[in-house]
Amino acid sequence: MNNQLKKQIVEALKDQKEIFGDELFEEKLKKRKTLVVSEKKEVYMEEPALFPEEKEDWELAKSLEELEGLIKDCTECRLHEGRNKFVFGVGNPNADVMVIGEGPGAEEDKQGLPFVGRAGQLLTEILKAINFKREEVYIANVVKCRPPGNRTPLPDEMETCLPYLRKQFELIKPKVVLCLGLTAARGLLHKKDSLTSMRGKVFEFETAKVMVTYHPAALLRNPNWKRGCWEDVQKFRQLYDEIVK
Ligand code: SF4
Repeated sequence: MNNQLKKQIVEALKDQKEIFGDELFEEKLKKRKTLVVSEKKEVYMEEPALFPEEKEDWELAKSLEELEGLIKDCTECRLHEGRNKFVFGVGNPNADVMVIGEGPGAEEDKQGLPFVGRAGQLLTEILKAINFKREEVYIANVVKCRPPGNRTPLPDEMETCLPYLRKQFELIKPKVVLCLGLTAARGLLHKKDSLTSMRGKVFEFETAKVMVTYHPAALLRNPNWKRGCWEDVQKFRQLYDEIVK
């Protein structure tokens, strides 16, 4: 059942409630419960869920292209309002390595591609320093639409967008993930820890091992963090060598 249909059903139920009050709902629930009890020989069964689990079209996508086509006009969170281009992700669809940032910036929003501005160039350099070519990894963000004025994506926006990233993981099946920056790490891993305490540790997301380091944009603002980033990505390379090579 798609969200539009769900909304229509909820609206219809609200209208009914307004006209008939709570009694109609109570009556229906009581009847359903009595029936279940008598049919199942007094075995109590919970009310069936109002909206039984049903997959959305995009959840059934068989490829990244299909997935992108199905979600590119998404309006599930407020970030769609200011977006110029939806930024799905780019790279090797069979990558062992995924790189995850927090969300598109101005240049990414213009081009519809992740990490294409100055921070993107620095990311390419960082990957090169640990012997990865940009084309061999897959790069995406926790949210796929640019937050207005480059503000940090809010927790509810990341949570709403996260199922799309999970689906990308299901299709790509990466083995290791480099997560860039505190916001992306919190959105991905549901942790409240500081970046300092997360760096150097190995976490899990879906079936992949995850390590966290600074966001390249933060390194541009504060070059003193580059040494720490270098240490982190060397450990990340080691993890890759142990798991993938
Ligand atoms: S950020 Fe994600 S959930 Fe929000 S509108 Fe864009 S694609 Fe949809």
